[in-house]
Amino acid sequence: MTTVLVLMDQSDPSLQTLTLARKFGEPRSLRMDAIQPFAPDAVAAGLAQAAEELNASAVFAAGTDRGNEVMARLAARTGLPFAANCIAVTPGESVTVTRLRWGGSLLEEARLHGPRPLITVAPHTVPADSGPAPVDVEVKAPSDADLVVHVVDHVSPSNGGVSLAEAKVIVSGGRGVGSQEGFAIIEELAGLLGAAVGCSRAVTSAGWRPHSDQVGQTGTKVAPDVYIACGISGATQHMAGLKGAKRIVAINSDPQAPLMLNADYTVTGDLKEIVPAISAEIRKRR
Ligand SMILES: Cc1cc2nc3c(=O)[nH]c(=O)nc-3n(C[C@H](O)[C@H](O)[C@H](O)COP(=O)(O)OP(=O)(O)OC[C@H]3O[C@@H](n4cnc5c(N)ncnc54)[C@H](O)[C@@H]3O)c2cc1C
Repeated sequence: MTTVLVLMDQSDPSLQTLTLARKFGEPRSLRMDAIQPFAPDAVAAGLAQAAEELNASAVFAAGTDRGNEVMARLAARTGLPFAANCIAVTPGESVTVTRLRWGGSLLEEARLHGPRPLITVAPHTVPADSGPAPVDVEVKAPSDADLVVHVVDHVSPSNGGVSLAEAKVIVSGGRGVGSQEGFAIIEELAGLLGAAVGCSRAVTSAGWRPHSDQVGQTGTKVAPDVYIACGISGATQHMAGLKGAKRIVAINSDPQAPLMLNADYTVTGDLKEIVPAISAEIRKRR
């Protein structure tokens, strides 16, 4: 039985990645938090060492910011072929992958030629199975050179501590919210629902919210049970971040806005009236 190496942390995308990796063989894992603070070159060096020792047939990681960064560095130092954000893989002499391109608006089928393909799995595109946890590998201490790039500080998100990527409910605002101050009604509804606040790029570009709140192709990919989009048109780059959302509620004055056409539930009208009315109704029922 061949062995595959999987870069793991505690997140759902890691478990989804593990599920896909099992198709290649018996998984072994390197824990991302084995090297603290996070240093991408040090993790890449650990993966390179472990993959050699195990003679791994492939190396997998979740297609998160950190997963993709570590694997890009691993590819650079080993010269091995790397495919990012895959949603399907077929083992074989040359490995066939299907991967998300252009924020998910294009699915590309590609073949990887090389002794040990490096693959990241797009978050929330593959269900996680409940197979056994893999055995962790141990790697030697990183060199000083591999620790040059490392995390030096953590800044708490502005959304009350609920992480956007992990939130079960998200209330998100777009240009239709109108201003930075306009987000008070979005925050109020989010607070009542125990939700995280998200936004579109029009909002971060205007400086109304920090980039850490942005949902989409160049923001966070989310997977909530409910995503409530207020005054967001639904450009493809925004929708690229919503593929994991189970239910979408759209509030928009334009019933033909793409997000309205793609939502499970819609409310047509002025969000400045509708959002406070929903909050008032929630308060009344408590
Ligand atoms: C390379 C690239 C990457 C990108 N990455 C991202 C990304 O990660 N995330 C992202 O979001 N965008 C991204 N974009 C930008 C994207 O193309 C859109 O420009 C952006 O999503 C639009 O934001 P919006 O929906 O808030 O604004 P708009 O498109 O202007 O839509 C505003 C909406 O609000 C509605 N509205 C206005 N007033 C009200 C009201 N009072 N009540 C109710 N509804 C109202 C309007 O009908 C409209 O539908 C990217 C673009 C590029 C080129």
